[in-house]
Amino acid sequence: MSRAEIIRPECIPNGVDPVDWRSFAWQMRNRIRTAEALSQWIDLTPSEESAIRDLSRRFRFVITPYFASLMDRRDPACPLRRQVVPAALELEDPAGRADPLDEVAHSPVRNVIRVYRDRVAFCVNSECALYCRFCLRKRMVGEPRSGMLERELEQALDWIAQTPQIRDVLLTGGDPLVFSDRRLDWLLGRLRAIPHVEIIRLGSRLPVTLPYRVTDDLCSVLESHHPVWLNTHFNHPAEISEAAAAACDRLLRAGVPLGNQSVLLRGINDDPAVMKALGEALVRLRVRPYYCYQAQLLEGTAHFRVPIERGIDIFRELRGRTSGFAIPQYVLDTPHGKVPLDYPFARGREGDDFVVEAWSGEIWREHNPS
Ligand code: SF4
Repeated sequence: MSRAEIIRPECIPNGVDPVDWRSFAWQMRNRIRTAEALSQWIDLTPSEESAIRDLSRRFRFVITPYFASLMDRRDPACPLRRQVVPAALELEDPAGRADPLDEVAHSPVRNVIRVYRDRVAFCVNSECALYCRFCLRKRMVGEPRSGMLERELEQALDWIAQTPQIRDVLLTGGDPLVFSDRRLDWLLGRLRAIPHVEIIRLGSRLPVTLPYRVTDDLCSVLESHHPVWLNTHFNHPAEISEAAAAACDRLLRAGVPLGNQSVLLRGINDDPAVMKALGEALVRLRVRPYYCYQAQLLEGTAHFRVPIERGIDIFRELRGRTSGFAIPQYVLDTPHGKVPLDYPFARGREGDDFVVEAWSGEIWREHNPS
């Protein structure tokens, strides 16, 4: 399959001006919020329709026209559709918790999460282009009261400025790229003015869900505050469109190193062939597959969770069958930090040998006197 066949061509609906379609503001203004609006893009099943009606107040529901245009009109199992369209199964999750990583308890000031000594996640807003059904922060995403008042933002910046151990700040949310260029420029400038902040990272799904946000002007803002890194969030190769590829290319040309953090999701990407295709497609875009997260014990997501043993098997199967850097590290996030979930290729010491299993399954004894 050639590269051109893998990247999905841009598909602008009839009757929409291409200039509007490619505008961040137009896409945000025209987001889909009802079953009726969504039915213009996909043939909703009765179950999806009732889930939108019954659930959207509990777990908010919004989709960009751009992302809807990538969904399969007829297939309810479409991997993009399942990520964003409510499902009745969301009500069947007795083990799910609102804040499984105890992020609130790990916040020295509101919306600054500190699990490690030298870095923090700073949830600068509560808005995203769309709301993923498996979002770790669904307790706050789309909820205006979860955003930050000016005074709270200042308190958070003050706390970072007064905490000299913090050398790495991850701007997340919500999605920090929902901010205007001017506000982002101001925020990055404030962080850059703190001498001990060495690295600023952005966690943004907009290259996937609304890639038209990545304009030359935005790239100029980011470029003026380097080193700025960005991790985005593709879960399936079908999310890689011409527009998404162009957004990644623009960021890379502005010197922003790109990584990808996916979530292992049942029926969406819990298949070695899908993970291999995703990793290889990302590498072709020069986006490094960084982490693949085990789905958390998060309310309303039992139907997405994959047993950890299965996840370990999936990533074990990729080893040796694709480039090493096309394989993300499979991790479990915990209130104590991320834990790699690796297949035990290293078997341990036997006498003067260290025994390992090669990707092919063959056992190798490396002479390794103690
Ligand atoms: S884009 Fe990220 S923060 Fe926003 S809803 Fe999706 S997973 Fe949550």
